[in-house]
Amino acid sequence: MPHQSFHPPERTLMGPGPSDVNPRVLEALARPTIGHLDPAFVGLMDEMKVLLRYAFQTEYSLTMPVSAPGSAGMETCFVNLVEPGDKVVICQNGVFGGRMKENVERCGGVAVMVEDPWGTAVDPGKTDETLRAHPDAKILAFVHAETSTGAISDAATLAEIARKHDCLTIVDCVTSLGGSPLKVGEWGLDAVYSGTQKCLSCTPGLSPVTFSDRAVEVVKNRKTRVQSWFMDLNLVLGYWGSGAQRAYHHTAPINALYGLHEALVILENEGIENAWQRHDLNHAALRAGIEAMGLSFAVAKADRLPQLNSVMIPEGVDDAAVRASLLQAYNLEIGAGLGPMAGKIWRIGLMGYASNQTNVLFCLGALDAVLSAQHAPIESGVAVEAAMQVYSA
Ligand SMILES: *Cc1c(COP(=O)(O)O)cnc(C)c1O
Repeated sequence: MPHQSFHPPERTLMGPGPSDVNPRVLEALARPTIGHLDPAFVGLMDEMKVLLRYAFQTEYSLTMPVSAPGSAGMETCFVNLVEPGDKVVICQNGVFGGRMKENVERCGGVAVMVEDPWGTAVDPGKTDETLRAHPDAKILAFVHAETSTGAISDAATLAEIARKHDCLTIVDCVTSLGGSPLKVGEWGLDAVYSGTQKCLSCTPGLSPVTFSDRAVEVVKNRKTRVQSWFMDLNLVLGYWGSGAQRAYHHTAPINALYGLHEALVILENEGIENAWQRHDLNHAALRAGIEAMGLSFAVAKADRLPQLNSVMIPEGVDDAAVRASLLQAYNLEIGAGLGPMAGKIWRIGLMGYASNQTNVLFCLGALDAVLSAQHAPIESGVAVEAAMQVYSA
């Protein structure tokens, strides 16, 4: 039997990413491929940089998408800024801080960890103390929005502390970009990476990054060569840099970039403040429904991300069976817990295009039905109504 074309099921994606892709983005992806040195494509690259600066809220000239997923954006920041022997203070309050440690060590650097409990924000006081105890540290790295737990940290304050100690910052903004207030320029963040499949609602596979001039100077004045040829910004700049010769470095993922361009145009049309507000509103409605059901959040209110809702799984409920039911009967994907939170929480994403009233009501209705069928100890039949009250207020 010859193989057939692959037709994926139509899901509603309310997990930790990828999120539902805007149909306008899918349509853009299907446009004809042109050469990556075609003048029309070069024009698109220039627009892309302008649109990304808007999304990041910065004027940094080195702003571009790395041609690979968020993890490659993370690696781009570390391999370019960390040289063998460099000391990096890393704040860890979830999965992704652990990956930062891996990156530093693989670059030959020394990682000093500041650990906070999963589900809480990074503690600025502890970070300050650690930097004081390590005056030779070169970089402070932290995650703005921890997707593994649903906690947001105060990036502005952490960046201020880093500057006080003469450190550059590397900041993971994969889940915050487009979903929560992020002001790279105003806050003076130095090396920032993100992803396309969370609150930008584009397909996975690209990683927008932005670097301050201070960070670029550090990269240009390295004593050793960047150990990754592909990610060496000194080379990538010949392709993406301002006034660059557009020298061939690698073939840009042309159609993927059409998609990202469309996603960024959509964000600009909506207005970034409006996008942040929309994420807040839909979170408030989901929260009202979840709490009316008698369920609770894993993260304290002050530290909660609107785009990633960690809900405690009630005692005696079969985590995997609930998620399987949601997927099979409702075509609805929500996320499982990771690491120490596996089996303890569900992660309900309200990211980008997926952050809308229809999805909130649909998810609450489906969760109510599936949990009731499992005889879970919840208040049934009130969640949708509670969410509706938020929308009509
Ligand atoms: C998703 C995510 C990443 C990794 O992005 P990929 O595109 O999966 O490589 C990194 N950091 C955070 C906070 C994320 O949510």
